[in-house]
Amino acid sequence: MINYANFLKLFFSLAAWLVSGLALCKPVEFNCDQNVNKAEGLEAKNHEEQLWLETLSYLSGVYEILTVGNGCSAGPLAVVQTNDGNNGIQRNCAIEYEDIQKTVKHLGLIINNPQKAKKCFDTQKDYSEFQLYSPNKKMKKASPISNWLDRPTLDEYFEENIENTLIIKAGLELSQNFERFLESTTMPEYLDVDITHKTLKELWSSVGWLPFYAENSDAINSRFRGGYVYAEVMGPWGLLRISHINGEVVGAEIGMTVQLNDTFYPYHYHHPQEFYMPLSSPQCNSTNKFFVAHWDSKLFDYNKEDNEISFDGDKSIDVPAWFITQAPDAANFTYFERNAVHAFKVAENCASESTALVSLWGRTTSRNNNQTTRICSLEQKSSGEASSDDGFVCRFEKYSY
Ligand code: ZN
Repeated sequence: MINYANFLKLFFSLAAWLVSGLALCKPVEFNCDQNVNKAEGLEAKNHEEQLWLETLSYLSGVYEILTVGNGCSAGPLAVVQTNDGNNGIQRNCAIEYEDIQKTVKHLGLIINNPQKAKKCFDTQKDYSEFQLYSPNKKMKKASPISNWLDRPTLDEYFEENIENTLIIKAGLELSQNFERFLESTTMPEYLDVDITHKTLKELWSSVGWLPFYAENSDAINSRFRGGYVYAEVMGPWGLLRISHINGEVVGAEIGMTVQLNDTFYPYHYHHPQEFYMPLSSPQCNSTNKFFVAHWDSKLFDYNKEDNEISFDGDKSIDVPAWFITQAPDAANFTYFERNAVHAFKVAENCASESTALVSLWGRTTSRNNNQTTRICSLEQKSSGEASSDDGFVCRFEKYSY
């Protein structure tokens, strides 16, 4: 039965689709970020062109993921809470969210106006905001574009910049097995565009990788801190940096993440909405799992005075039990609403070789408000490394939105 609220939702979704469809026919104006550098010289232009074409393919694949019906008439049925507060999994059609609709609209305009969008494309060879990395020396050597970009490699980074031996060990395990991790990725069968390393080798080798938590002790776990990197294909810090299309802010931030086996990405939250789609499955019968619940969920204790939420491990609802499986052929698309608390538990290794969870990653409002990812702290500070079973505290009061 369609109730009035659902009818309205559907109506506005269709209206948004119609507007985006009409927008595709009009002349389109792209504004780039100020710091976009363009390649000069024949060799640089050739590399730029090839990396651009693979970037376009990646974005076309993301467009397909967000628009082809998979449990919904358009786009994927996303897990938005692994526990909705009543011990049920909450799923919504991703396309019903306004920020996803805007991302779809902008991706459509880019894909249909590639020559105009290309002016905002930058290989990030001379990127000055922060250091970006190639995965390892072997991949760098094998890729003409990576060779030309000549970024330092992740293994060099861990060996030269990090002192904690556990972080270095995990970092080297990640960087040295990186290509094998990428080679094990697959697409869900219902999709046509392949965004994996199999088809887009230069992009996965040459996009700038960031060991985001290696120097951030808030992330608590040493193995996770070494065993996690992400890269940005499009967005304020990525290869394609479009600030506005037709005067409208472009909030889409799209890239990929790699998280080493046997790591726990602690409970965390952030203002921008986020989505993930796993591109790899663990070996044997083990499973990669994740948790997400809204910040105002009754799973958590909310302290209004301090504006913090906590989970103390003693409540009748067992938060750690509400990690659910994430795999290309299972709950394959997840969407995190504003400030939703989420965590990823990548399976322990069951074979002789290490494995990793490789995912498509995106945020939708990367140009408004505060983008910082906040890691929730352990309730028992003395317990050291965080696990999914620990109590935690997320302190919202520290940050003004
Ligand atoms: Zn997140």
